[in-house]
Amino acid sequence: MRKKLLASLVLIAALSMALWAAPDSSHRRKILFFTKSSGFEHPVISWKDGQPSFAEKVLLELGSRNGWEFVFSKDGSKFNKDYLAQFDCVLFYTTGNLCLPGTDGQPPMTPEGKQALFDYVRGGQGFVGTHSASDTFHTGGESQKGPDRYLNHGDQADAYVRFLGGEFIKHGAQQTAKNTVTDPKFPGFEKAGADFSLHEEWYSLKDFAPDVHVLSVIDAPKMTGPEYDRPPYPTTWARHQSKGRVFYTALGHREDIWTNPLFQAILTGGLRWAMGDVKAEIPPNLRETAPEAMTNPPYVAPPPPKPKAAASPAPKPASSGAK
Ligand SMILES: [Zn+2]
Repeated sequence: MRKKLLASLVLIAALSMALWAAPDSSHRRKILFFTKSSGFEHPVISWKDGQPSFAEKVLLELGSRNGWEFVFSKDGSKFNKDYLAQFDCVLFYTTGNLCLPGTDGQPPMTPEGKQALFDYVRGGQGFVGTHSASDTFHTGGESQKGPDRYLNHGDQADAYVRFLGGEFIKHGAQQTAKNTVTDPKFPGFEKAGADFSLHEEWYSLKDFAPDVHVLSVIDAPKMTGPEYDRPPYPTTWARHQSKGRVFYTALGHREDIWTNPLFQAILTGGLRWAMGDVKAEIPPNLRETAPEAMTNPPYVAPPPPKPKAAASPAPKPASSGAK
């Protein structure tokens, strides 16, 4: 009897401990995975036959492992204060000017919706960008990859570029490249080692915010292609936006990156940190980790279009006006 009573007391104690510990940790995290493509649509986030994309299937697995709920959306028109308030984090895999319908024709954001995203993060929430999140909201007039695309604009860069902490210039052929880990203590990098090499479509990036805490630096001088004719530069970083947290990794083009355990660890760590579930010190370290990161590759003009082969006979004009 006494034993039974003791056992129940222990059980009650355990239960009340669990209840006491519950407040924040029991709250199931809800993450918006937003994949509107106003520019190029990546196969890895493309919806076919009503099925989740390749990346979304991976996220569903990560979600079940971590107790996260994902909402998958390409609808920019939903962005406003109330819509964003339901999420613990916003994850972007986007391209182009999201305030335009663009390539995928999905509903665009309003300029107020874009501002709502910044306000949401500034208020203390998290944002994570993967891969082409940096090929999004280019600084004015640089959607074409002309010479301006190779310049840093600092304070004059688009508000989104300053928020994210960097901007995509161009990429070369997919190749294996070495990345040095510059903060092995940051969540997700604990098992990455001193460096890691992956075969990927590597983004050449520019206009790094001066306050980024760099997590990995790519060995550009060893890479092939004029896009990488530059000193080493960051490929993953974290920064504060007022009270909020912003994390970016250039990884995520290829399917075998999404299934790669290291990428999954880096993404999971970034999401957990962005949601405030793990803490990390993130002092600015761009100068120490990648001192020449602001030196961009030279602009190389594309070759002139090849002259067309013998012109085929001009099609006969339609018999009547266009329908
Ligand atoms: Zn890509």
